[in-house]
Amino acid sequence: MRLSLRIAILVAFIVLLLDIPSVLAGSDYYGVLGVDRSATKRQIKKAYKELSKKYHPDKNPGDKDAEAKFVELAQAYEVLADDEKRRIYDQYGEEGLKGGGHQQFHNPFDIFAQFAGFGGGFGFGHQHAQQRKGPEVAMNLEVTLEELFLGTTIEVEINKQIICPTCRGLGAKRAEDVVKCTACNGAGIRIVRQMLGPGMYQQMQTTCDACGGRGKLVKSKCPACEGNKVKRGSHQLTVTIERGMYDGQRIVMDREADESPDMTPGDLIFTLSTLPHPTFTRKGDNLYVKEVITLKEALLGFEKKLKHLDGNEITIRREGITQPGFVQTIKGQGMPTHEFPSERGFLYVEYGVVLPEKLTEAQISQISKLFDS
Ligand SMILES: [Zn+2]
Ligand SMILES: [Zn+2]
Repeated sequence: MRLSLRIAILVAFIVLLLDIPSVLAGSDYYGVLGVDRSATKRQIKKAYKELSKKYHPDKNPGDKDAEAKFVELAQAYEVLADDEKRRIYDQYGEEGLKGGGHQQFHNPFDIFAQFAGFGGGFGFGHQHAQQRKGPEVAMNLEVTLEELFLGTTIEVEINKQIICPTCRGLGAKRAEDVVKCTACNGAGIRIVRQMLGPGMYQQMQTTCDACGGRGKLVKSKCPACEGNKVKRGSHQLTVTIERGMYDGQRIVMDREADESPDMTPGDLIFTLSTLPHPTFTRKGDNLYVKEVITLKEALLGFEKKLKHLDGNEITIRREGITQPGFVQTIKGQGMPTHEFPSERGFLYVEYGVVLPEKLTEAQISQISKLFDS
């Protein structure tokens, strides 16, 4: 008891020494969201989504700690989800955000509410609202019938362009190394006068060649991307295959195509392509299988096991005569229906009969006697 009290007093003393505002200024936004400094926007968004749901005051009535955590999460997210704010934060910490009016946090409930309206705008209104979206990228994804039957997740490695994680798309070593182009005074264009004849001039607008039309010059290139603002590399993606998904189905990975500083990434779209299965064929939610039976089984009936797509054995059974080419319909053993996997299609079993290659003398005389009568 005495020891913990002493620690409490010591902590209080340290807090007093540091002064509350500067303690807050040292907030580790990455730590708050539990992500890496190199985390992608998607990872940041995901972490925020999960944690803010957990600490939402509605779920923790009267819990002051949860409420403080909820506010803290919103602030961390607001900074890290914004390229510009994140860049400043990475370089100068929270102190850097105090200049230039960056420190104005929004209502944490408004930030949380952005997730309620699905597919809503990302970023905070002003600068990203009108951004163009990059092109869609289509890819084929081969899956087995078993994977479609059971559902699974597939790790896919894709090669794509991302915003340079070192400079976060700035292209420069430091933010202050991006300066206004003096040749065009930041306009990106220049007016050129051309003499057409004596006393006749034509005014032409051309792209500023000093800055390439960007209006800005970079004094020091970011060493990680050599000033290109982007890098290309391989990235791991997890694609969820739901039970009953069908061949040709499109799975849209929101904004997972190439990243570029001046546009929102396009969607990456996987189209499922089913690999042929040695036993089963699929049509819609129904499965088809061919089963070979002996002459004796065709005449007298049988019971046998059939290994299904999940590895379980099901029993197929016939009584009496089974004609070659007969199709048996088995309810509830087809593919699961996508989004309603408790419902299943039919399993159709088509029977083929193999006749014996040869008969013994005894068999010949017995069979002829049997069929004569
Ligand atoms: Zn210029
Ligand atoms: Zn860079």
